[in-house]
Amino acid sequence: RTRWLWQQAKFPDKPWTGLPFPSDKLSYSIFIASTVITIGSGATISFWHSHWWQGTPLRELFPQLYSHSRGHNLSLMTALADRKWITCIKENPTAQVLADYVRVWNITAQVNLSPTQPDDIRWKWTADGQYSARTAYQMLFQGRIRTNHNMLIWSSRTPPKCQMHAWLAIQGRCNTADQLAKKNWPHTPTCTLCQLQPETALHLFAQCQYTRLLWQMILQRFHAQITPPRADEPSLEDWWYSSVRSLSKQERMKVNCLVICAWWHVWKERNARIFEHRASAITEVCSLINEELRLWCTAGLVRAMWMPPD
Ligand SMILES: [Zn+2]
Repeated sequence: RTRWLWQQAKFPDKPWTGLPFPSDKLSYSIFIASTVITIGSGATISFWHSHWWQGTPLRELFPQLYSHSRGHNLSLMTALADRKWITCIKENPTAQVLADYVRVWNITAQVNLSPTQPDDIRWKWTADGQYSARTAYQMLFQGRIRTNHNMLIWSSRTPPKCQMHAWLAIQGRCNTADQLAKKNWPHTPTCTLCQLQPETALHLFAQCQYTRLLWQMILQRFHAQITPPRADEPSLEDWWYSSVRSLSKQERMKVNCLVICAWWHVWKERNARIFEHRASAITEVCSLINEELRLWCTAGLVRAMWMPPD
């Protein structure tokens, strides 16, 4: 949509110029923030709506004067000719309108039109000053929250339910005891795996001594080149990201699968202990993880770049 605003400003001779087209506040703001106007004759610049003065349209700088004026579609050239914009101000101006008037008068006094020069508009984000969809898209997502979730989780090609679980885990939003307490739901406050510490996602998936022993076993069995989480590991996501960020793509995919699968089985083990009163030894859970990973590979979910041992 920003493209249409650009085309309209850049190519005023196109047959569709002036026709209504889909646009919204966001596209318009991006357009304003991304373009610079160079005044020539002023014939193709809108007096009220173009951002020819310090990058902001007069309509936005002086809304009272704008609504108290006729001729909203004046070009800069027409508005300045014989000070036409002044004759467009309606009768009985308020004090604010008069104040706006003085300021616009000062602004217009500083504008020098060059009747023989065409007006120009440049796109700020490309070297040649021409619009590109790629840079507009980048602008649009400047404010997005950057996370590593895509690299760690969503690109892993593991089953969606396990991805979702990992995603909730790194945000501490699994239904662990601390979360259940917040919701006033029945819960056992202590970790069922070690029976020592309060249960949080960080504890369950990294700090717990059961989980850390499991991690040591997993890393050995799968020859993964990362360090298991520490007892005082401060963040699940930081541990995961710093473990894989310098690995080769192939190794990273493997470790991501391991983390997602291991956390899934730690969660299943925790639930089995709470709801079925059935506990498995660390070696058993490690074998279950191995089996599950082989299944993922055989099913083609995980690219067949590596195969867990039998
Ligand atoms: Zn524990």
